[in-house]
Order: sequence, then C-alpha cells, then structure tokens
Amino acid sequence: MSLNPPDEEFGPDRTKAATPERMAHIDMDMFKANVVMLRELVAPAGVMLAVKANGYGHGMIPMAWAALQAGAESLAVLDIPAALELRAAGVTAPVFAWMHDPDADFSAAADADIDLGISAIWQLDAIAAAGSRIAPRVHLKIDTGLSRNGATAADWPDLVRAAMAADAAGSVTLYAAWSHLADASPADDAVALAKFHEAVDVAKALGATFSKLHIAASSAGIRMPEARLDFVRFGIAAYGISPFDDATGRDLDLGPVMTLSARVASVKRVPPGQGVSYGYLHRTEQESSLALVPLGYADGIPRFATGKARVMLNGKQYPIAGRIAMDQFVIDVGDDPVSPGDHVIIFSQGWLGEPTAEDWASFAGTIGDEIVARIGHRVVRRYIGVGHDIDTGLWEPGYNC
Ligand SMILES: *Cc1c(COP(=O)(O)O)cnc(C)c1O
Repeated sequence: MSLNPPDEEFGPDRTKAATPERMAHIDMDMFKANVVMLRELVAPAGVMLAVKANGYGHGMIPMAWAALQAGAESLAVLDIPAALELRAAGVTAPVFAWMHDPDADFSAAADADIDLGISAIWQLDAIAAAGSRIAPRVHLKIDTGLSRNGATAADWPDLVRAAMAADAAGSVTLYAAWSHLADASPADDAVALAKFHEAVDVAKALGATFSKLHIAASSAGIRMPEARLDFVRFGIAAYGISPFDDATGRDLDLGPVMTLSARVASVKRVPPGQGVSYGYLHRTEQESSLALVPLGYADGIPRFATGKARVMLNGKQYPIAGRIAMDQFVIDVGDDPVSPGDHVIIFSQGWLGEPTAEDWASFAGTIGDEIVARIGHRVVRRYIGVGHDIDTGLWEPGYNC
C-alpha cells in the first residue's frame, strides 16, 4: 500500500484558480517607479537593491528583474543559496551575499561569480580551499556598532591583511569595504560612519585599496546624504514602505507595492450576544452577519493585532472581530450586505482609506518590513504592471523596457 495518495486527492491546483481566495497583488510599475525615484535621489551614488527574504515577501526573482529594469546596478540577498537561485534564473548582474554558514558552498558561489560579504578570516580560507578558478569579489565588513556581522576594530587589521594575501594568491579579488548602520539615532549613525571611514583609513595604511565603499540602507540612503558613498543598498523603501517612524511611505513619495486581499469564505447570520472566535473576545451587540476570511497568522496576519486591526470590505472599513486565528478571522458587518466571494482588502495603498502595511505595523507594534516579509506561501502572488506576466511577474517576451 502506498502512503502517497494520487495527485488528484490533493484536489484542484488552487494556485491556478481564476480568483485565488488569498491574494497578494504586486504592483510592478509602482516598484519600478520607487526604484527610479530612489536612484535619482542618491545619484551619483548607485543602487544595490535588496531582494532578500523572497523579495521582502513579494517574490525574489520577479523583483530582481524589475529592479534591474528600473536601473539598479546590483542585487543583495542574504546568502549563497539565494544568490545561486538568481543565477539559475538567468540574472547576470552583480549579486551580493553576506551571511555564510561554515558549510556554505563557496565553490559554487565563486563559480557563479557571486560577490561575497566577508566578516572573518575563516571565510577567506574557505574560499581559498574551495579552489574555484574564479576569484570572487569580496567586500570586507567592519562592524561599526550594530554588533552583528563584521570585524571588530580589533580584528579588522588582521582581516584586511588576510584579504590582501588572498588577493595576491589569486583566491579572491579584494573589491569593497562596507558596513551596516543601526538606525539608532542620527548621532549614533554619524559615529558609525566616522568609524567606517577610520577603518577604511586603517586598511589603506596597510596597503589595501577598495573599488567601492558602502554603508547605507534605506534610512541613511534617504536622510543621510554623506553616507551614500559609492552605492546605497535599498530594501524596504523600494517596496513602498517607510524606514522611518515619523514619516509614511506616502510622505516620502513612495508607493506601496503589495496589496493583500482575500475572499469571504462564508457568511452567517447570528443572534445578539454571540461569541466570536477563540476566547470570545468579541460578542455581537445585535443580530449580525459574520463574514469569515480565510487568512490567519500562518499567512502572516499578526495575531498580536487582535483588537486593533481593521480591514476593508465592499468599500467600508470594519474592525476584525475577536481573535485572529491560524487560518482565519471574522468580520462582524452588522446588517450590511455581504456574500461569500466578496473581496476583503487587508492592506493596500491607502488611497480609499483602507489600511496600509504601515498601518498594520502599528496595529501589531512592529515595522512594515515584518508585515510584508511574513506573508506566507498560501497567499498567491499576482503581478500587475505593463509587460509583466500576471502569474510569474516575469517580463513577457515582446515587450521592450
Ligand atoms: C536588509 C539589508 C539592507 C536593506 O535594508 P532596508 O532597511 O530594507 O533598506 C541593506 N543592507 C543589509 C546588510 C541588509 O541586511
């Protein structure tokens, strides 16, 4: 007896349904407009576009192509496997990856010409041991205060010397020096930038030369012009979400790229005093219609937003009634009309007053980055934008950019 049921027992392929029950619309034109705006803002500095974490939940491969179309010069992902996925998809632009496991496949990374962020000597040794015929470009990272990756000031001179030796031996190409800011305060970031320049000076005194220097992500890229250096590693701003607490994306002329929606799965009429969802945190005040929405925390809807979040249904805003569960939540629409299949907007661009991802961040006490990055795989991505295939987001042959 086989434990693997035949395929048809899984039912129809729901990702192919005409109107998926859970959907993230990704607005490619908006994304490209954001990238162009950010490019113009920081020019003559260049733009490296971060498509890590599945393109902040938007889909890594389509966002990578769109970023390059919009003039980004290079792409940033977390690690070598993600960089190799971009290469497998045909991306030939520079791809930068900086988080490496001791068992990371440096040989594949070198063969695929991936730019590597380097924080420790063992990483240089591992690249040399991998013995690729291509000497990958390395970007040496100095820790300027964030206390994550990067060499401390104490370890920096040894890392620089090791990189120069590896470069001379032909196992790496010493290319850049970089760091990452803590966004703690303008004063803290100014201290970190000064530490960065000091580290670069130390390296130069040791005889190192760097083709590129980079430190800024979205926040410093927008508000700290002196940190733009050779290029800015933009992430969240390109997806239309502000990196700041005191300004929305709209304030910055950025447009939200993702719209999250779902279709009402069922509707029922209930009497007054009816408890709703786990713990009965909500009870109906009157005879009411309850609409069930098939999105929950497994899809990235934060349970912590229970009691605060609102959504839009048929042009009207409603609070989510009671607990957000793993797979679903409920809206109490009172006597308003609602039918199964109606569209519920969880977040969008905010033009009709519906919540944005930034609003959801405040419902859940987090940042918009976390809201979009956690949207799960049950949510079907649909890409809108002239020339983009609706299912894959890829550029359709026949269109010229
Ligand atoms: C995520 C990340 C970025 C992009 O940051 P945003 O704040 O999203 O612009 C840039 N550099 C590094 C090292 C990162 O981890």
